[in-house]
Amino acid sequence: MKILFATSEAFPLVKTGGLGDVAGHLPLALQQLGAEVTLALPAYRSVLEKVDAPVVGWVSTSHGYALLRETTLESSGPRLWLIDHPTFSERPGPPYVDESGEPWRDNSIRFGAFSQALAKLAIGHSGAKEHFDIVHCNDWQTGLVPAYLSVEPERPATLFTIHNLAYQGIFPASCLETLHLPGELWSPLDGLVFHGQLSFIKGGLVFADRLNTVSPTYAREILDDAFGYGLTGLLNHRKRDLSGILNGVDLDEWNPATDRYIPQNYSSATLDDKAINKAALQKEFGLPPDPGAFLIGNVGRIVEQKGVDLIIDALPLLMKLPIQLVLAGSGDSLLEGALRKAAGTWPEKFACYIGYNEKIAHLIEAGADAFLMPSRFEPCGLNQMYSLAYGTPPIVSHTGGLADTVTETTKQTLKTGKATGFFIDKMDAGGINRAVQTALSIHSAPKAWRNLQLAGMRRDFSWEHSAREYIELYEQMTESGKAALAEH
Ligand code: ADP
Repeated sequence: MKILFATSEAFPLVKTGGLGDVAGHLPLALQQLGAEVTLALPAYRSVLEKVDAPVVGWVSTSHGYALLRETTLESSGPRLWLIDHPTFSERPGPPYVDESGEPWRDNSIRFGAFSQALAKLAIGHSGAKEHFDIVHCNDWQTGLVPAYLSVEPERPATLFTIHNLAYQGIFPASCLETLHLPGELWSPLDGLVFHGQLSFIKGGLVFADRLNTVSPTYAREILDDAFGYGLTGLLNHRKRDLSGILNGVDLDEWNPATDRYIPQNYSSATLDDKAINKAALQKEFGLPPDPGAFLIGNVGRIVEQKGVDLIIDALPLLMKLPIQLVLAGSGDSLLEGALRKAAGTWPEKFACYIGYNEKIAHLIEAGADAFLMPSRFEPCGLNQMYSLAYGTPPIVSHTGGLADTVTETTKQTLKTGKATGFFIDKMDAGGINRAVQTALSIHSAPKAWRNLQLAGMRRDFSWEHSAREYIELYEQMTESGKAALAEH
């Protein structure tokens, strides 16, 4: 099976969020299962500074030629194609924004030309033919690939993965012409127009053969107006082609037995050692070194999506409980200010770190007793999976990937050894307070708590697991796969 994996970022070369993680790990895992994967990425200057990728071909776009550079991701990893268009390679800085943090004004041309180049490369380049079974596109930056391919008589099957529906790539309608998009795609119903503008994400949502999101629950939720960002009509229309596959976790980076950031490594066999990390975490945040305090952690972007405002609202209630709470993140400056103020109000019980810090993120996962994650929506979420792997039961909202990865603690799930965490029953201060109290009461029964920790640590969040599900989906999409399915 030959797969062209199209993405605008991939760890460790370039990463701004979850998509970078997926694109850095999934292609490797697919390759290990026998798929032949080509990872295609814009040749950002920052990437060209990291890898040596000679030019092996060229392809024309509405905005001039793009060079095709080729190397491999890591020494034995999948083939890596870097699409070298001057708007990427001649520009410094992060992928989507300029020095002042504003989106590059020509993003429609940059990612439009990138998508156009990919659509051509999916079929052949420099006068030679290529064969791919699947072109796997990700988020709006590669959304136009299925649209361009839709008018080709012979083309590979296309999959479009939604990592976050909130980002859609909306540009003025005039771009339709500038990007040489065929006239038949200029329609609001079954084309690229969204409220009079050009929508890149619609390229994927309308024209890809199959759609998926990064968790089964998020795939269902986006059919509802509350989560659909104005696209529920279209998504409902494509419901039969839409599914969800959970992301995996980088187990080399996030494994308490080998984690290089934490003072004491541990595993399910040596869980008592976790206490050493707890003491280190309390010290790091200047909290009293009380081994008996129920220490709750949180790491993430400080934004409304992650429910940080709800945590702030809940603090007056939470601070009455025998707990400590530590939080690390950065984002919205108003929320950051409120957190700093709260740390001054409850210095013995609440502390925060404002900024991005890998070491602190690992220390929180390893040192906290429980992890609080009251996201309003969560396409997949990583931190709850890290928490499960670190024996730090998560207290989460019942949404998206959180609902799919955490098993609620009930009498029944406790008895069967399946319980791994706690759901917040109402998204407000009272709901968070109730969930924390439930967790606290189970924590006071050491045997039950230990069972909860061990059940979480047993869960398989490997990329191999996700990759197997993607292979199954790819197989359903290819002709031979379809034929095999029809026989059953
Ligand atoms: P999202 O992609 O919506 O931000 P995820 O839970 O899927 O949320 O992934 C967030 C990732 O970023 C996790 O690996 C998390 O540990 C990391 N992260 C977020 N904020 C920080 C921070 N301030 N310091 C260190 N790591 C962070």
